[in-house]
Amino acid sequence: MKVIGLIGGMSWESSAEYYRLINQRIKEKLGGFSSAKCLMYSVDFAEIEALQVQDRWDEAGDILADAARRLEAGGADFILLCTNTMHKVADRIQNSVKRPFVHIADATCAAIKAQGLKKVALLGTRYTMEQDFYKQRLIDSGLEVIVPEKEDRDTVHNIIYEELVQGVVKHESKLRYQLIINCLQKRGAEGVILGCTEIGLLIKPQDSPIAVFDTTVIHAQTAADMAL
Ligand code: GLU
Repeated sequence: MKVIGLIGGMSWESSAEYYRLINQRIKEKLGGFSSAKCLMYSVDFAEIEALQVQDRWDEAGDILADAARRLEAGGADFILLCTNTMHKVADRIQNSVKRPFVHIADATCAAIKAQGLKKVALLGTRYTMEQDFYKQRLIDSGLEVIVPEKEDRDTVHNIIYEELVQGVVKHESKLRYQLIINCLQKRGAEGVILGCTEIGLLIKPQDSPIAVFDTTVIHAQTAADMAL
């Protein structure tokens, strides 16, 4: 079994999910007492979040590249970055190590294509929904991607930072997300990408009228399958 290297802590609420999902998948596949061989380097999210709002992405990238090097030195066979947003600096991380880097958008794209969907909605932080680093990767691989209107993007973003990354899961916020997903369905979305690793704490597949692609689940399961 290969050793999975995880750059976590963004937030730790979702990193805990990665750990659980990866081990669950390994157990499903191998049975018995089997569990994953993995390493996690968990950063201080306060430092990363401060750099995000100050638009100092390169410095945040340096912190994550350093984390990747530590994982590699510790014996990780491949590396995952447990956040969608920080894939903005994926190149910086990837270039700092020799081991493969498993991009969350590529894993998600493969899952969408496996279901034969063409047009999907993307929910995530404002950075992920509004900038090109993530969306463009999906578009380049042949998907049509839509995001909520401005007011709804603000709602999605604020619920992530004010609640979900802090472990706060409110019924009222779930209803607001559901209304937004309904609007996206009316605009033609056949599926919705939960493109922030904490949204799965709030929205489950049964909460949506269209197919749900939870990036945390997809990324974690991809890693577990690669490890075997
Ligand atoms: N975990 C989130 C994501 O997947 C947001 C936290 C962050 O900014 O990294 O985008």
